Amino acid sequence: MKIFCIGRNYSLHAEELGNAIPDTPIIFLKPETSLLRSGTPFYIPSFSNDIHYEAEIVVKICRLGKGISRKFAHRYYKDITIGIDFTARDIQQNLKKKGLPWEISKGFDNSAGLGTWIDINNLNIQDIDFSLEINNILVQNGNTANMLFSVDEIISYISNFYTLKIGDIIFTGTPAGVGKINKGDHLIGKIFDKKLLDIKIK
Ligand code: ZN
Repeated sequence: MKIFCIGRNYSLHAEELGNAIPDTPIIFLKPETSLLRSGTPFYIPSFSNDIHYEAEIVVKICRLGKGISRKFAHRYYKDITIGIDFTARDIQQNLKKKGLPWEISKGFDNSAGLGTWIDINNLNIQDIDFSLEINNILVQNGNTANMLFSVDEIISYISNFYTLKIGDIIFTGTPAGVGKINKGDHLIGKIFDKKLLDIKIK
């Protein structure tokens, strides 16, 4: 399976990191070994002093496709959840400064925290409220209406370059409010009021 991620998909988050607003989706991938299921602890790795949380809506691909038009993209997913794109911000900034690929800052082991899947049913994918609480304090609160590129646009764009397979997942970008995690933190991710992700930092 492939794990796609979208960078800078909410303008306020792009601004908080001093990044320009992109004119096409920014795509990167994490390997399968980055998956961390809700309920499993996240251990702060020794190679970074600045691991950030990024709460994101994640969609799961449910049919095989390539060159998918935007109009039909909604047929390619039916389950969503909330995930955490753990990022070694110190490593990323360093590599970015040098103009080098920042792969390792995003794709390291356990860097893709994943909540429990829910069926999208009658929900409008572009009107989903989601939030992240750390130690009972709300740190991120987003709505997919504020995405720069909609889920359907993202799927269409990705499928020009990569064949999408059943079980592939897409992290759709984080809203503003990212920050550092610390040992002892307790992360709770919700879609609307439903708790779907629970990860303790060790
Ligand atoms: Zn992200």
